[in-house]
Amino acid sequence: MLTIDLSAIQNNWLRLASMTRASVAAVIKANAYGLGAKEVGTALYTAGCREFFLATFDEAVAARSFLPPDAVIYMLGGLRGVDLEGLHNQQIIPVLCSGFDIEQWLKLKKNNPPVFQPALKINTGMNRFGIDGMELSSLCANIEQITALNPALIVSHLACADDEHHSKNAEQLNKFLISVEQIREKLPHIRASLANSSGIFLGKSWHFDLVRPGAALYGLNPMPLQQNPMSQVLKLALPIRQIRTLSLSESVGYGATANLPVGARLAVVSGGYADGLHRTLGAQPAGILYGRRVNVAGRISMDSMIFDISSVSASEEELMNSTIEVIGEQLPLDGLMQANRQSLGYEVLTSLGDRFTRSYVGGDL
Ligand SMILES: *Cc1c(COP(=O)(O)O)cnc(C)c1O
Repeated sequence: MLTIDLSAIQNNWLRLASMTRASVAAVIKANAYGLGAKEVGTALYTAGCREFFLATFDEAVAARSFLPPDAVIYMLGGLRGVDLEGLHNQQIIPVLCSGFDIEQWLKLKKNNPPVFQPALKINTGMNRFGIDGMELSSLCANIEQITALNPALIVSHLACADDEHHSKNAEQLNKFLISVEQIREKLPHIRASLANSSGIFLGKSWHFDLVRPGAALYGLNPMPLQQNPMSQVLKLALPIRQIRTLSLSESVGYGATANLPVGARLAVVSGGYADGLHRTLGAQPAGILYGRRVNVAGRISMDSMIFDISSVSASEEELMNSTIEVIGEQLPLDGLMQANRQSLGYEVLTSLGDRFTRSYVGGDL
């Protein structure tokens, strides 16, 4: 059972909002990083969030169906392969990322006036999506084209914001400032947005008019070099499915990688690497059973893992109605990330499988 604390997500959003005069959007792409876009999006709307970023057209259409009509929905992934009429009908605001996107949008606008204003993405050094500075210059030099396009928001994305000492942060900021100034000569009212979660913590110069946090809302540390300022959001408890006491000293699990002494007590739980638990928890995860720390013995399997619970004296009947918590207050996701440096918190969250029942608490505000 994966328990998601919607109040903690709301508090994280409010905490970010208290740090800035900019509007605070929420990035709920990839099913809100695996936590449930509908539940998370609705809770954030209740907290006051009105702008939401999704990655794909399908995600944006789904968000339109569960968010109230005054929610502003952006689609980050560009227009290649996207149903333009659908986008227009559903009032999904594309973040135009290339010359192709701009051309498509102008065509749509010609055939379907009036059309709402798009967003425009600038590459300031990430070199992923976005038009380059040169392309922006020629777009701005063509007064007819820039006024026809009339974007309401100019966006760029930081590559190294989670390392506050990285020189790339200031480099990107300077490039973005130049682009914003350039486009404001033609469109004085255009809003600007640069910061993701970590970017918010770089300081007010990075905030502009709109910030776009995702990870920090879900409890990931936006400043990995410092103590996590965000509230924990997740609890993952794995149900015990079988108890065994070894009648002789023997190996446990695939590959016979662990040997346990006679009398060792084992608990087999549901949840394995097919549920994303390898990267989350490391090779030999710890869990909490009745407040006591227990460790996995042997390899994690696809659908299950085996804990050595020799230190726990509870009856088998009691154990069969219990769970072992592998993410929670005593094992916060953030601490697991520090201990198991081979994976990013982002990957962990988005890998948590669909076989976990997601249970939501809080969120009413
Ligand atoms: C995913 C994404 C974000 C959110 O980033 P976090 O690091 O999760 O806060 C913001 N902007 C863009 C363009 C993104 O793709």
